[in-house]
Amino acid sequence: PQQEPERSFKYADLTVRLAPPHLLQPKPDVRDLVFGKYFTDHMLKIFYHEDLGGWQTPEITPLENLVLHPATKALHYAVQVFEGAKAYRGRDGKIRLFRPELNMERLNRSASRFGLPVFNGGELIKCISRLISIDQEWVPHCETASLYIRPTLIGVDPTLGVAVSRSALFYAILCPVGSYFHNSSDKKGISLLADPSYTRAWQGGCGDQKGGSNYGPTIHIQEKASQKGLQQVLWLHGADMQLTEVGTMNIFVFIVNENGEKELITPPLNGLILPGVTRASILSIARELNQFKVTERNITMEEICRLISEKRLLEMFGAGTACVVSPISHIDFLDRPLHIPTMEQSDAVHKMFLKTLLEIQYGYQPNHPWALEI
Ligand code: PMP
Repeated sequence: PQQEPERSFKYADLTVRLAPPHLLQPKPDVRDLVFGKYFTDHMLKIFYHEDLGGWQTPEITPLENLVLHPATKALHYAVQVFEGAKAYRGRDGKIRLFRPELNMERLNRSASRFGLPVFNGGELIKCISRLISIDQEWVPHCETASLYIRPTLIGVDPTLGVAVSRSALFYAILCPVGSYFHNSSDKKGISLLADPSYTRAWQGGCGDQKGGSNYGPTIHIQEKASQKGLQQVLWLHGADMQLTEVGTMNIFVFIVNENGEKELITPPLNGLILPGVTRASILSIARELNQFKVTERNITMEEICRLISEKRLLEMFGAGTACVVSPISHIDFLDRPLHIPTMEQSDAVHKMFLKTLLEIQYGYQPNHPWALEI
């Protein structure tokens, strides 16, 4: 596939085919929003055909089924990468994207790793913004919900060779979403299954890319967690049981270190960790704030247990687009219950990060460089 973004599709070429009024769907009540269940009326599609010069013109169409040959590479070898971002309706009624250029960079990196064509991220942001403005009434009018954006790129060569796909389809679909977790995790914090017999990513693998093939195999383990009454999986790695991620979130640990200083720790981008937009944003906010030490380093289960017994573990939380910041209050570690005192802290840092991020996303900080008005 072509690697020069100059050969990218262009927003200027976008065509729009609107859904006829009788096909427009009723919008669900925000209280009924289940993650990823309801879709807006339109979608964005961009085909790539190497034989036709690469990227074709972008088109917005009614949301419709895809017609794929049964040999389509994406269906056999998971030649598929995707993104997850959100559009937020601010207090002023304006709709904003949060650092979408980071999602574009990550999608291009994932595409390269899966032998899929790359593109110009700025052009795609403009196409997606147009899609959102067409379906703008689907962006919830409240600050506990938002519009989830799912850009997807699949290899569609109808041939069974395990090889680069010479044709591809990019599409983006949108869903109004509410709070990610069903329980009131704001008050209780989430519970995790930590089972070292499973791992999500490994050195030399592609855990740091957003390919669908990283997610399918996690469902079984997530089911094991659910059966034990636990909400998410704490992904461990290696003989020393390093903490890597939690569910589909990056993980943060806030501690008092051996020198008595407060320290925020998250695992480094060592190839095992998805480089989250929320992760990068929390690190920036924390470094700018300069009130405690901020470290990207590995942390193991042994260290977590020691920190708990020495009462030096203050908070633990997951961070990601879907749930922003998700406090952790319990870990089931080899059937040993560990209580994490995240919810007991006064002036908790996870609450400060959540508030700061929501303020930027919902337009409380005018003209913030991380918020792109559409
Ligand atoms: N880790 C994994 C495995 C994920 O799928 C996601 C969601 N993209 C994240 C972390 C969080 O990334 P972001 O903050 O960009 O949503």
